[in-house]
Amino acid sequence: MEKLETLIIGSGPAGYTAAIYAARADLKPVIYTGLEPGGQLTTTTEVDNFPGYPKGIDGPTMMVQLQEQAERFGTDVRVGFINSVDFSSKYGGIHKVITDSGKEINTRSIIISTGASAKYLGIPSEQRLRGGGVSACAVCDGFFYKGQEVALVGGGDTAAEEATYLAKICSKVTMLVRKDHMRASKAMQHRVNNTPNIDLKYNTEIDEVLGEKVVEGIRMKNNITGSTEEIKITGLFIAIGHKPNTEIFKGKLEMDQEGYIITKGKSTSTNIPGVFASGDVQDKEYRQAVTAAGTGCMAALDAERYLQSIPNVNGS
Ligand code: NDP
Repeated sequence: MEKLETLIIGSGPAGYTAAIYAARADLKPVIYTGLEPGGQLTTTTEVDNFPGYPKGIDGPTMMVQLQEQAERFGTDVRVGFINSVDFSSKYGGIHKVITDSGKEINTRSIIISTGASAKYLGIPSEQRLRGGGVSACAVCDGFFYKGQEVALVGGGDTAAEEATYLAKICSKVTMLVRKDHMRASKAMQHRVNNTPNIDLKYNTEIDEVLGEKVVEGIRMKNNITGSTEEIKITGLFIAIGHKPNTEIFKGKLEMDQEGYIITKGKSTSTNIPGVFASGDVQDKEYRQAVTAAGTGCMAALDAERYLQSIPNVNGS
Protein backbone atom coordinates (compact mmCIF):
# COMPACT_ATOMS: atom_id res chain seq x y z
CA MET A 1 0.00 0.00 0.00
CA GLU A 2 1.30 3.43 -0.99
CA LYS A 3 0.49 6.75 0.71
CA LEU A 4 0.17 9.92 -1.34
CA GLU A 5 -0.71 13.56 -0.92
CA THR A 6 -2.19 13.97 -4.38
CA LEU A 7 -3.20 11.42 -6.97
CA ILE A 8 -4.12 12.62 -10.45
CA ILE A 9 -6.15 10.31 -12.66
CA GLY A 10 -5.88 11.02 -16.39
CA SER A 11 -3.22 12.59 -18.58
CA GLY A 12 -4.82 15.11 -20.92
CA PRO A 13 -4.17 18.87 -20.72
CA ALA A 14 -6.16 19.00 -17.45
CA GLY A 15 -4.23 16.19 -15.73
CA TYR A 16 -0.79 17.40 -16.79
CA THR A 17 -1.53 21.02 -15.90
CA ALA A 18 -2.79 19.90 -12.49
CA ALA A 19 0.46 17.91 -12.16
CA ILE A 20 2.65 20.91 -13.04
CA TYR A 21 0.95 23.05 -10.38
CA ALA A 22 0.76 20.29 -7.76
CA ALA A 23 4.41 19.37 -8.24
CA ARG A 24 5.52 22.98 -7.94
CA ALA A 25 3.46 23.23 -4.73
CA ASP A 26 5.42 20.22 -3.41
CA LEU A 27 2.37 17.93 -3.30
CA LYS A 28 4.48 15.17 -4.92
CA PRO A 29 1.76 14.19 -7.37
CA VAL A 30 1.51 10.78 -8.94
CA ILE A 31 -0.39 10.66 -12.22
CA TYR A 32 -1.99 7.53 -13.68
CA THR A 33 -2.18 8.14 -17.41
CA GLY A 34 -5.22 5.99 -18.20
CA LEU A 35 -5.71 3.89 -21.31
CA GLU A 36 -4.97 6.73 -23.71
CA PRO A 37 -1.82 8.49 -22.38
CA GLY A 38 -1.98 12.12 -23.43
CA GLY A 39 -5.76 12.00 -23.86
CA GLN A 40 -7.85 13.13 -26.79
CA LEU A 41 -5.26 15.54 -28.15
CA THR A 42 -3.04 12.63 -29.11
CA THR A 43 -5.65 11.78 -31.71
CA THR A 44 -5.87 15.24 -33.20
CA THR A 45 -3.73 16.83 -35.86
CA GLU A 46 -3.05 20.51 -35.65
CA VAL A 47 -3.89 22.48 -32.50
CA ASP A 48 -4.11 26.04 -33.74
CA ASN A 49 -5.95 27.66 -30.88
CA PHE A 50 -3.78 26.98 -27.83
CA PRO A 51 -2.26 30.32 -26.80
CA GLY A 52 1.50 30.53 -27.14
CA TYR A 53 1.87 28.49 -30.32
CA PRO A 54 1.68 31.10 -33.10
CA LYS A 55 2.34 28.51 -35.79
CA GLY A 56 0.17 25.80 -34.20
CA ILE A 57 1.41 22.51 -32.82
CA ASP A 58 0.41 18.91 -33.44
CA GLY A 59 -1.54 17.32 -30.59
CA PRO A 60 0.83 14.42 -29.74
CA THR A 61 3.86 16.77 -29.57
CA MET A 62 1.98 19.14 -27.31
CA MET A 63 1.11 16.31 -24.93
CA VAL A 64 4.71 15.03 -24.82
CA GLN A 65 5.82 18.55 -23.95
CA LEU A 66 3.18 18.84 -21.21
CA GLN A 67 4.35 15.51 -19.76
CA GLU A 68 7.99 16.68 -19.83
CA GLN A 69 6.99 19.90 -18.10
CA ALA A 70 5.14 17.98 -15.37
CA GLU A 71 8.10 15.60 -14.91
CA ARG A 72 10.55 18.49 -14.73
CA PHE A 73 8.99 19.44 -11.38
CA GLY A 74 9.00 15.87 -10.07
CA THR A 75 5.62 14.44 -11.12
CA ASP A 76 5.66 10.65 -11.06
CA VAL A 77 3.98 9.66 -14.37
CA ARG A 78 2.75 6.06 -14.42
CA VAL A 79 1.27 4.30 -17.44
CA GLY A 80 -1.70 2.49 -15.98
CA PHE A 81 -5.24 3.05 -14.84
CA ILE A 82 -7.34 3.05 -11.71
CA ASN A 83 -9.80 0.17 -11.40
CA SER A 84 -11.87 1.26 -8.42
CA VAL A 85 -12.20 4.04 -5.87
CA ASP A 86 -13.42 4.21 -2.29
CA PHE A 87 -13.83 7.82 -1.27
CA SER A 88 -13.85 8.86 2.35
CA SER A 89 -16.91 10.95 3.07
CA LYS A 90 -15.07 12.70 5.92
CA TYR A 91 -13.33 16.02 5.67
CA GLY A 92 -9.66 15.14 6.04
CA GLY A 93 -10.34 11.48 5.26
CA ILE A 94 -8.17 9.11 3.29
CA HIS A 95 -9.34 8.05 -0.17
CA LYS A 96 -8.47 4.54 -1.32
CA VAL A 97 -7.98 3.48 -4.92
CA ILE A 98 -6.96 0.21 -6.54
CA THR A 99 -4.79 0.30 -9.66
CA ASP A 100 -4.95 -2.07 -12.64
CA SER A 101 -2.11 -4.10 -11.08
CA GLY A 102 -4.12 -4.54 -7.86
CA LYS A 103 -2.05 -2.09 -5.84
CA GLU A 104 -3.83 -0.06 -3.14
CA ILE A 105 -3.10 3.65 -2.92
CA ASN A 106 -4.21 5.78 0.01
CA THR A 107 -4.29 9.45 -0.84
CA ARG A 108 -5.35 12.63 0.91
CA SER A 109 -6.50 14.31 -2.29
CA ILE A 110 -7.52 13.19 -5.77
CA ILE A 111 -7.79 15.14 -8.97
CA ILE A 112 -9.98 13.42 -11.55
CA SER A 113 -9.07 14.35 -15.13
CA THR A 114 -10.27 11.27 -16.97
CA GLY A 115 -11.73 13.24 -19.88
CA ALA A 116 -14.28 11.94 -22.34
CA SER A 117 -14.37 9.23 -25.03
CA ALA A 118 -15.78 9.01 -28.52
CA LYS A 119 -19.43 8.10 -28.97
CA TYR A 120 -20.63 5.56 -31.53
CA LEU A 121 -23.97 5.34 -33.32
CA GLY A 122 -24.81 2.06 -31.61
CA ILE A 123 -26.32 0.25 -34.60
CA PRO A 124 -25.40 -3.47 -34.73
CA SER A 125 -23.58 -3.40 -38.09
CA GLU A 126 -21.40 -0.50 -36.87
CA GLN A 127 -20.55 -2.30 -33.63
CA ARG A 128 -19.75 -5.54 -35.47
CA LEU A 129 -17.32 -3.78 -37.80
CA ARG A 130 -15.45 -1.75 -35.19
CA GLY A 131 -11.84 -2.52 -35.93
CA GLY A 132 -12.87 -3.83 -39.33
CA GLY A 133 -13.13 -0.46 -41.00
CA VAL A 134 -15.25 1.47 -38.48
CA SER A 135 -13.17 3.94 -36.49
CA ALA A 136 -13.70 6.98 -34.26
CA CYS A 137 -10.27 8.42 -34.91
CA ALA A 138 -9.35 9.65 -38.37
CA VAL A 139 -5.89 10.68 -37.28
CA CYS A 140 -5.15 7.22 -35.87
CA ASP A 141 -6.63 5.17 -38.71
CA GLY A 142 -6.92 7.44 -41.76
CA PHE A 143 -3.56 6.27 -43.10
CA PHE A 144 -4.96 2.77 -43.69
CA TYR A 145 -7.38 4.17 -46.27
CA LYS A 146 -4.85 6.06 -48.35
CA GLY A 147 -6.21 6.63 -51.87
CA GLN A 148 -9.54 4.96 -50.99
CA GLU A 149 -13.11 6.21 -50.59
CA VAL A 150 -14.38 6.65 -47.04
CA ALA A 151 -17.37 8.15 -45.21
CA LEU A 152 -17.65 10.15 -42.03
CA VAL A 153 -20.61 10.85 -39.74
CA GLY A 154 -21.03 14.09 -37.77
CA GLY A 155 -21.43 17.82 -38.19
CA GLY A 156 -19.39 19.30 -35.32
CA ASP A 157 -15.87 20.67 -35.24
CA THR A 158 -14.37 17.21 -34.79
CA ALA A 159 -16.20 15.92 -37.86
CA ALA A 160 -15.17 18.93 -39.94
CA GLU A 161 -11.56 18.64 -38.81
CA GLU A 162 -11.45 14.90 -39.47
CA ALA A 163 -13.15 15.22 -42.87
CA THR A 164 -10.55 17.72 -44.08
CA TYR A 165 -7.78 15.55 -42.65
CA LEU A 166 -9.12 12.44 -44.43
CA ALA A 167 -9.61 14.39 -47.66
CA LYS A 168 -5.85 14.87 -47.84
CA ILE A 169 -5.24 11.11 -47.66
CA CYS A 170 -8.30 9.56 -49.28
CA SER A 171 -9.65 9.95 -52.79
CA LYS A 172 -13.15 10.89 -51.58
CA VAL A 173 -14.88 11.57 -48.25
CA THR A 174 -18.67 11.36 -48.05
CA MET A 175 -19.70 13.41 -45.02
CA LEU A 176 -23.08 12.65 -43.43
CA VAL A 177 -24.74 15.38 -41.38
CA ARG A 178 -28.09 14.51 -39.82
CA LYS A 179 -29.48 18.07 -39.76
CA ASP A 180 -29.79 20.59 -42.59
CA HIS A 181 -26.83 22.48 -41.14
CA MET A 182 -23.54 21.79 -39.40
CA ARG A 183 -22.80 22.57 -35.77
CA ALA A 184 -19.12 23.21 -36.55
CA SER A 185 -17.71 26.73 -36.37
CA LYS A 186 -18.02 28.88 -39.50
CA ALA A 187 -14.27 28.65 -40.10
CA MET A 188 -14.37 24.84 -40.07
CA GLN A 189 -17.46 24.75 -42.30
CA HIS A 190 -15.66 27.00 -44.73
CA ARG A 191 -12.77 24.54 -44.85
CA VAL A 192 -15.12 21.63 -45.53
CA ASN A 193 -16.98 23.51 -48.26
CA ASN A 194 -13.72 24.41 -49.94
CA THR A 195 -12.39 20.87 -50.05
CA PRO A 196 -13.37 19.48 -53.46
CA ASN A 197 -13.23 15.77 -52.57
CA ILE A 198 -15.62 16.08 -49.61
CA ASP A 199 -19.16 15.16 -50.67
CA LEU A 200 -21.34 16.80 -48.01
CA LYS A 201 -24.76 15.24 -47.50
CA TYR A 202 -27.22 16.99 -45.19
CA ASN A 203 -30.27 15.34 -43.55
CA THR A 204 -28.51 12.05 -44.03
CA GLU A 205 -27.93 9.21 -41.59
CA ILE A 206 -26.47 5.71 -41.70
CA ASP A 207 -29.10 3.05 -42.18
CA GLU A 208 -26.68 0.14 -42.31
CA VAL A 209 -22.96 -0.50 -42.54
CA LEU A 210 -22.41 -3.06 -45.28
CA GLY A 211 -19.86 -5.88 -45.18
CA GLU A 212 -19.37 -9.09 -43.22
CA LYS A 213 -15.86 -8.89 -41.78
CA VAL A 214 -14.73 -5.53 -43.17
CA VAL A 215 -16.57 -2.41 -44.27
CA GLU A 216 -17.56 -2.63 -47.92
CA GLY A 217 -20.09 0.19 -48.05
CA ILE A 218 -22.94 2.00 -46.31
CA ARG A 219 -26.62 2.40 -46.92
CA MET A 220 -27.51 6.05 -46.27
CA LYS A 221 -31.00 7.32 -45.52
CA ASN A 222 -32.33 10.79 -46.14
CA ASN A 223 -34.30 11.53 -42.96
CA ILE A 224 -36.68 13.93 -44.76
CA THR A 225 -37.61 11.90 -47.82
CA GLY A 226 -36.89 8.45 -46.41
CA SER A 227 -35.00 7.53 -49.58
CA THR A 228 -31.95 5.31 -49.29
CA GLU A 229 -28.74 5.07 -51.29
CA GLU A 230 -25.83 2.64 -51.11
CA ILE A 231 -22.24 3.67 -51.70
CA LYS A 232 -19.05 1.64 -51.71
CA ILE A 233 -16.47 2.68 -49.12
CA THR A 234 -13.70 0.90 -47.23
CA GLY A 235 -13.60 3.03 -44.07
CA LEU A 236 -16.30 4.61 -41.91
CA PHE A 237 -15.35 7.29 -39.40
CA ILE A 238 -17.68 8.25 -36.56
CA ALA A 239 -17.24 11.79 -35.21
CA ILE A 240 -20.41 12.49 -33.23
CA GLY A 241 -19.09 13.72 -29.92
CA HIS A 242 -17.96 12.22 -26.65
CA LYS A 243 -19.13 10.85 -23.32
CA PRO A 244 -17.38 11.46 -19.99
CA ASN A 245 -15.16 8.71 -18.59
CA THR A 246 -16.84 8.40 -15.22
CA GLU A 247 -17.81 4.71 -14.98
CA ILE A 248 -15.73 4.02 -11.86
CA PHE A 249 -17.16 7.06 -10.08
CA LYS A 250 -20.84 6.19 -10.60
CA GLY A 251 -22.74 6.24 -7.33
CA LYS A 252 -19.68 7.73 -5.60
CA LEU A 253 -19.73 11.29 -6.87
CA GLU A 254 -22.52 13.65 -7.88
CA MET A 255 -22.98 13.64 -11.64
CA ASP A 256 -25.44 15.13 -14.09
CA GLN A 257 -27.75 13.03 -16.29
CA GLU A 258 -25.08 12.53 -18.94
CA GLY A 259 -22.51 11.40 -16.37
CA TYR A 260 -20.43 14.57 -16.16
CA ILE A 261 -19.05 15.17 -12.66
CA ILE A 262 -20.67 18.15 -10.94
CA THR A 263 -18.28 20.69 -9.46
CA LYS A 264 -19.25 23.39 -7.00
CA GLY A 265 -19.58 27.00 -8.17
CA LYS A 266 -16.40 28.30 -9.73
CA SER A 267 -14.26 25.67 -8.03
CA THR A 268 -13.22 22.15 -9.03
CA SER A 269 -14.55 20.68 -5.76
CA THR A 270 -16.89 17.71 -6.02
CA ASN A 271 -19.39 16.72 -3.33
CA ILE A 272 -16.63 14.70 -1.61
CA PRO A 273 -14.05 16.70 0.35
CA GLY A 274 -10.57 16.22 -1.10
CA VAL A 275 -11.84 15.00 -4.47
CA PHE A 276 -11.55 17.47 -7.35
CA ALA A 277 -12.47 17.23 -11.02
CA SER A 278 -10.96 19.08 -13.97
CA GLY A 279 -11.17 19.04 -17.76
CA ASP A 280 -13.77 17.42 -20.01
CA VAL A 281 -14.92 15.02 -17.30
CA GLN A 282 -16.71 17.97 -15.68
CA ASP A 283 -17.18 20.26 -18.66
CA LYS A 284 -19.57 19.60 -21.50
CA GLU A 285 -19.79 23.24 -22.43
CA TYR A 286 -16.35 24.50 -23.48
CA ARG A 287 -14.29 21.29 -23.95
CA GLN A 288 -11.17 23.01 -25.20
CA ALA A 289 -7.57 22.10 -24.43
CA VAL A 290 -7.02 25.55 -22.96
CA THR A 291 -10.09 25.43 -20.73
CA ALA A 292 -9.18 21.89 -19.62
CA ALA A 293 -5.69 23.12 -18.74
CA GLY A 294 -7.23 26.06 -16.87
CA THR A 295 -9.39 23.82 -14.72
CA GLY A 296 -6.39 21.51 -14.14
CA CYS A 297 -4.57 24.48 -12.66
CA MET A 298 -7.63 25.31 -10.53
CA ALA A 299 -7.86 21.71 -9.27
CA ALA A 300 -4.23 21.73 -8.11
CA LEU A 301 -4.74 25.05 -6.32
CA ASP A 302 -7.97 23.77 -4.76
CA ALA A 303 -6.20 20.58 -3.64
CA GLU A 304 -3.30 22.56 -2.19
CA ARG A 305 -5.65 24.79 -0.18
CA TYR A 306 -7.63 21.77 0.98
CA LEU A 307 -4.50 19.93 2.15
CA GLN A 308 -3.29 23.00 4.00
CA SER A 309 -6.60 23.20 5.83
CA ILE A 310 -6.64 19.63 7.22
CA PRO A 311 -4.42 17.80 9.70
CA ASN A 312 -1.91 15.40 8.13
CA VAL A 313 -3.66 12.20 9.16
CA ASN A 314 -1.87 10.14 6.50
CA GLY A 315 1.44 10.45 8.27
CA SER A 316 3.08 11.23 4.91
P1 NDP B 1 -20.23 18.09 -30.95
O1 NDP B 1 -21.08 17.60 -29.85
O2 NDP B 1 -19.94 19.52 -31.08
O3 NDP B 1 -20.87 17.64 -32.37
C1 NDP B 1 -21.38 16.35 -32.54
C2 NDP B 1 -21.92 16.24 -33.96
O4 NDP B 1 -22.34 14.89 -34.16
C3 NDP B 1 -23.14 17.12 -34.20
O5 NDP B 1 -23.14 17.55 -35.54
C4 NDP B 1 -24.29 16.15 -33.95
O6 NDP B 1 -25.45 16.47 -34.66
C5 NDP B 1 -23.72 14.87 -34.51
N1 NDP B 1 -24.35 13.68 -33.93
C6 NDP B 1 -24.50 13.35 -32.62
N2 NDP B 1 -25.08 12.15 -32.48
C7 NDP B 1 -25.32 11.71 -33.75
C8 NDP B 1 -25.91 10.54 -34.27
N3 NDP B 1 -26.36 9.56 -33.48
N4 NDP B 1 -25.98 10.42 -35.63
C9 NDP B 1 -25.51 11.37 -36.43
N5 NDP B 1 -24.94 12.52 -36.02
C10 NDP B 1 -24.84 12.68 -34.67
O7 NDP B 1 -18.90 17.20 -30.84
P2 NDP B 1 -17.45 17.46 -31.40
O8 NDP B 1 -16.69 16.26 -31.03
O9 NDP B 1 -17.49 17.81 -32.84
O10 NDP B 1 -16.89 18.72 -30.62
C11 NDP B 1 -16.83 18.71 -29.18
C12 NDP B 1 -16.29 20.06 -28.69
O11 NDP B 1 -14.91 20.19 -29.04
C13 NDP B 1 -17.02 21.24 -29.32
O12 NDP B 1 -17.16 22.25 -28.37
C14 NDP B 1 -16.07 21.68 -30.42
O13 NDP B 1 -16.21 23.05 -30.73
C15 NDP B 1 -14.70 21.35 -29.82
N6 NDP B 1 -13.69 21.08 -30.85
C16 NDP B 1 -12.84 22.09 -31.24
C17 NDP B 1 -11.88 21.88 -32.21
C18 NDP B 1 -11.00 23.02 -32.60
O14 NDP B 1 -11.28 24.13 -32.19
N7 NDP B 1 -9.93 22.78 -33.33
C19 NDP B 1 -11.70 20.58 -32.86
C20 NDP B 1 -12.64 19.59 -32.41
C21 NDP B 1 -13.59 19.85 -31.43
P3 NDP B 1 -26.51 17.56 -34.13
O15 NDP B 1 -25.92 18.90 -34.42
O16 NDP B 1 -27.69 17.22 -34.95
O17 NDP B 1 -26.72 17.29 -32.67
